[in-house]
Amino acid sequence: MEKVLVAGGAGFIGSHLCKRLIALGARVLCADNFTTGAQSNVQELLANGRFELIEHDVARPLQADIDRIYNLACPASPVHYQRDPVSTIKTNVHGAINMLDLAKERNARILQASTSEVYGDPEVHPQSESYWGHVNPIGLRGCYDEGKRCAETLFFDYSRQFGVEIKVLRIFNTYGPHMQPNDGRVISNFIVQALRGDAITIYGDGSQTRSFCYVDDLVDGMISFMKSPSDFTGPVNMGTPYEVSMMELANMILQLAGGRSEIEYRPLPQGDPKQRRPDIRLAREALGWEPRVSLLDGLKETVAYFRKTLSA
Ligand code: NAD
Ligand code: UDP
Repeated sequence: MEKVLVAGGAGFIGSHLCKRLIALGARVLCADNFTTGAQSNVQELLANGRFELIEHDVARPLQADIDRIYNLACPASPVHYQRDPVSTIKTNVHGAINMLDLAKERNARILQASTSEVYGDPEVHPQSESYWGHVNPIGLRGCYDEGKRCAETLFFDYSRQFGVEIKVLRIFNTYGPHMQPNDGRVISNFIVQALRGDAITIYGDGSQTRSFCYVDDLVDGMISFMKSPSDFTGPVNMGTPYEVSMMELANMILQLAGGRSEIEYRPLPQGDPKQRRPDIRLAREALGWEPRVSLLDGLKETVAYFRKTLSA
């Protein structure tokens, strides 16, 4: 039986990954410091004898008997990662070193949840893996973007220097159930606001774009990337090529959630990328992966989840 460590497993994506791994028959050790995650996300797994949850900060070393590591530990929402930027960098850099040291010691394969943010505010559109990015190292997003970039460097250096088997995945905006109502990212904000009848907060004029991938599709891709031949290290993009503006997104969510929310314009946060869309040809060719869930269907599931959560 495969023994898998999911660092950051009580978070939004991590909890879906843990659930899928358990369904596939693995033994799962979920390590989380609960900064943005919650035990409630993995509550249904706690009774399973193959699932274990421990409180742990990846900025500190970890000893565990495992064969595979998924490193997802890091707050992903700008609101949360900018609250304590020094801790965000430590989580990314010290966390990567600690997880890589564990992988080296155990001869375990390790997957890094990297991000489209390594491309920064991109000057190339759509973004393919060969693009080196346009990141402001001293801006408010730097703690996350540069932390993730440094983690990628560490992954490739551990691979070249010590032969660690690495998988570097550049995740584009992903959404779905288990996002926290106070997460602060756009889809959870708009849905919670629409369901509560509060104003929908559009930052800037709403013309900036993102491409949103439903979490089930991403988890499919993560698992198939982890299983892929060892010489396929990535980096590989995963996300959906369907791009929408924040104004279009607000209108879709208003239609689905109902209610009478008004639109309220707020200042655009510093360094907010103007556009983002992945080139996913590499994932298609190397893994046969592409997203299947349309934005409309994924939003319906997510609205239903928040409707239930907020009324509980
Ligand atoms: P999330 O904030 O819901 O989950 C992150 C989890 O990591 C939380 O459970 C949190 O408590 C935990 N964590 C944070 N710091 C930690 C630490 N020092 N030690 C242990 N645990 C820690 O975010 P998410 O959306 O589930 O993202 C998961 C990963 O995927 C993150 O690494 C993120 O950077 C990456 N990613 C996500 C997206 C996205 O759109 N969701 C896009 C790109 C990359
Ligand atoms: N955004 C918005 N209203 C909100 C939250 C976010 O208009 O209540 C915008 C934000 O400025 C950005 C986009 O939505 O342009 C996506 O933001 P998010 O924080 O979800 O992710 P990221 O910027 O990291 O892609």
